Amino acid sequence: MEQAALDRRSRMFRSLRTRFRGALIQPGEDAYDETRRIWNGAVDRRPALIARCVDADDVVTALRFARDHALPISVRGGGHGVAGNAVYDDAVMIDLTLIKGVSVDPAKRQARAAAGVTWGEFDLATQRYGLATTGGTVSQVGISGLTLHGGFGHLLRKRGLTVDNLRAVELITAEGEQLRVDAQSEPELFWGLRGGGGNFGIATSFTYDLHPVGPLVLGGPVYWPIEQAAEVLRFLRDFAPAAPDELGIMLVAHQLPPLPFLPPEQYGKPALGLLLTWAGEVAEGIRVLTPLLHVASPLGDLVRPVPYRALQTLLDGAAAPGNGAYWRSVRLPQLSDSAIEVFVSLLDSLPTRLSFLTGWAISGAASRVAADATAVGEREVGFEIRLIAVWPPEDPAAGQHAAWVHEGWNRLRAHGNGRQYPTFLSDERLSGVRAAYQDGWARLVALKDRYDPGNVFRLNAISRRALRARSRLIIWYQAALLRTQPQMESDLANRVTLFRTTPRMMSVDPADLSARRPAAPPARVDAAVPFLGGSALPGSARGSFSRL
Ligand SMILES: Cc1cc2nc3c(=O)[nH]c(=O)nc-3n(C[C@H](O)[C@H](O)[C@H](O)COP(=O)(O)OP(=O)(O)OC[C@H]3O[C@@H](n4cnc5c(N)ncnc54)[C@H](O)[C@@H]3O)c2cc1C
Repeated sequence: MEQAALDRRSRMFRSLRTRFRGALIQPGEDAYDETRRIWNGAVDRRPALIARCVDADDVVTALRFARDHALPISVRGGGHGVAGNAVYDDAVMIDLTLIKGVSVDPAKRQARAAAGVTWGEFDLATQRYGLATTGGTVSQVGISGLTLHGGFGHLLRKRGLTVDNLRAVELITAEGEQLRVDAQSEPELFWGLRGGGGNFGIATSFTYDLHPVGPLVLGGPVYWPIEQAAEVLRFLRDFAPAAPDELGIMLVAHQLPPLPFLPPEQYGKPALGLLLTWAGEVAEGIRVLTPLLHVASPLGDLVRPVPYRALQTLLDGAAAPGNGAYWRSVRLPQLSDSAIEVFVSLLDSLPTRLSFLTGWAISGAASRVAADATAVGEREVGFEIRLIAVWPPEDPAAGQHAAWVHEGWNRLRAHGNGRQYPTFLSDERLSGVRAAYQDGWARLVALKDRYDPGNVFRLNAISRRALRARSRLIIWYQAALLRTQPQMESDLANRVTLFRTTPRMMSVDPADLSARRPAAPPARVDAAVPFLGGSALPGSARGSFSRL
């Protein structure tokens, strides 16, 4: 940018500082590089301004400022969106991470949490009362993005998806108006916020129903060698849909790290793991789980009574921020023999030791919610499976790792229903995003036209105009590549490069900018947590809403 333009921009930002209570960070300032980074280390973008809001008024101020100066807006919740929609070159990044606070009403069994809260903070506040709701299984993931896109967690078979437990959202619209959105006040908008992402405004708080959970639950990981993976998956396809709702089943298949409960000769070898959670009576859980834990010959398990919060942080170490990452997700209503064969061959060909296959058994309460009740749409009984390539920063083979995801995704989705859940959208094109929403698409478009006709919130996974622009860009990119390098790997390497560019910016149209106390956890169980790299839980998240 020319010096004169830079000076103009600096003057603009100085005027904003007088009205903004949080931190405003520009390129060149000390905290800039640290604050613009998100979970996915492959995303390397440079916003024009980072507005670290401390309350809803700051959000309104930053939003109005960006609109007045025709600057595009991206919204950062917990920063764990894999495609990095939270941050864009030359945009104003409205960063919500400083807006903290969880207030729990144990009598009503509800919690209101501010948009910058993470799942670790949420669980810490609600588990003081022995309460929980379905939420993220890595403690640093933000409640915001996860909730607005659907939300999966260990309690989904007992309590449904996160959006099924959502009761209200405080939202700032494109016009800067503050709305409380719930099923009574704004039923259609409330429908759209339960799965439709950040298209209709900036959420500053969420109110959830809570349920008695733990503080001790029966759960933990169990692993089988890859040679037995097919047998276990065949058992699981019949066992999971018929299991009691109390049982949460998450798949985690990867190359084994050195976990003391597993045989050392297996370290580094690919294995199928299940992370199980029984949210009910322990004795009954043992009875239900026994047949599953005796399929074939497990390498080892840590299934035992554990604090619910320990389960909720068990995967933290495996999901540390800063590595490059890319994923794609499929929905498999039938776990057919051929789908299992593909799954096992993908497990056998993981591109790096950090990469993995993961997913959920979808059934129980989550699958009984009517298709038109939330924007997530239909949730048929079956499995959600994700292929996740993860690589160390600066790995020169990032493109090949992403190619593994694409190739595997194409093979696996041949056995699926062509759909995927919005929570796990990555960098799909318009057709992929439409496939995620199916019948709900027209309703989402109508809501967008009503609440954000100027497409102010376009830097997100499902904004129509952005997607059209993205599709055009990808087609252009691919055509250019195919002329020079016809190999698929190069083509896919380019998709990773896309994370570093600003495709949507290229098409910005300025006209658009018009009460139970938990018992102390048993020491032995806590000692087991770091085996999977679980981090220490964050400090108290209880705060006040006075600033909201
Ligand atoms: C390590 C890891 C573990 C995960 N585990 C789970 C899991 O267990 N269950 C599950 O369901 N998903 C899980 N996910 C997926 C996760 O739910 C999505 O990536 C989600 O979008 C992350 O939300 P965030 O707020 O952290 O991310 P962000 O990148 O900050 O948000 C993603 C997008 O959501 C929108 N957005 C966020 N906050 C707001 C807001 N307040 N108002 C308006 N728009 C907003 C913006 O468009 C933003 O770009 C996981 C992801 C990772 C990387």
